[in-house]
Amino acid sequence: MTGNPIRTTVPLDSAGVHHGFLKLPYSRDDSAWGSIMVPITVIANGDGPTALLTGGNHGDEYEGPIALQELASTLDPAEITGRVIILPMMNQPAFAAGLRCSPLDGANMNRSFPGRPDGSVTQKICHYIATELVPRADIVLDFHSGGRTLDFLPFAAAHVLEDKTQEAACMAAMEAFNAPYSVRMLEIDNVGMFDTEVERQGKTFVTTELGGAGTASARTAAIARKGLRNLLIHAGILSGTPQRNETIALDMPDERCFSFAETAGLVEYLVDLGAPVTEGQPIARIWPADRTGGAPALCHARRDGLLTARHVPGLIKIGDFVALVAVEV
Ligand code: ZN
Repeated sequence: MTGNPIRTTVPLDSAGVHHGFLKLPYSRDDSAWGSIMVPITVIANGDGPTALLTGGNHGDEYEGPIALQELASTLDPAEITGRVIILPMMNQPAFAAGLRCSPLDGANMNRSFPGRPDGSVTQKICHYIATELVPRADIVLDFHSGGRTLDFLPFAAAHVLEDKTQEAACMAAMEAFNAPYSVRMLEIDNVGMFDTEVERQGKTFVTTELGGAGTASARTAAIARKGLRNLLIHAGILSGTPQRNETIALDMPDERCFSFAETAGLVEYLVDLGAPVTEGQPIARIWPADRTGGAPALCHARRDGLLTARHVPGLIKIGDFVALVAVEV
């Protein structure tokens, strides 16, 4: 063992269907010998690849948890060759609170990898996943959406990597997911991300941004469900024919894809998600929120492309993300 206090209540390497928990002792005022219980399902049959399927990395993003709850409760081991390890709400404390970050330690799980066996609750969960689950996996799918403060065009994404063989495997898996948009993704800051740790271990990795605004729609839940099934077929775990629809390829070549607010106020978007914009075009006006008679500040597109993500709340703070403009390939 690695010194991590987390134990599973189910076997990770046995055939059949096993529903249980990652159990982390967590002594506190309302439960002296209590535990954090992170739900996990392992379904395995025969020799084949392993997929690690995760949602709820951020606790206010819902398409992944919906699709993964359904898979965990309906997948028959006779349908598969290999194994799926399903964590629908990997950041259970944040998910239970409906928050992006954990209320127990304030940590953003997707900035806390590879974690620490002797760290905070979030760091211990990350460390367990990184040392016990990721090494068992051939392919990892981590579902994200925008959460309460962002909204996205629904896309699957893979990263540009130094290892071009690994990058090609990730891009192929992203294409197999077949979201309405497929993005070669540049991260603002990839240090501590689950993505980065999975890729460092040489695994095939796909992530998503399937919507946002703190909820899931019928459309975005259906995109998650279809993509999950397609990915398992692509991995050779599930038999069947993938469901294919048109996907629009988007690239994020550099940091000019991002625009941020340089003033606080009442935000008025001038274009909606999916709209084409050109460099220098105003994307949003930010009106004063505390006085009348002032002109709005303008926030501009920094390159040509499609408006791919935006801020959700009606009020915006200085430094908040305003717009992601991705480039149609
Ligand atoms: Zn997220």
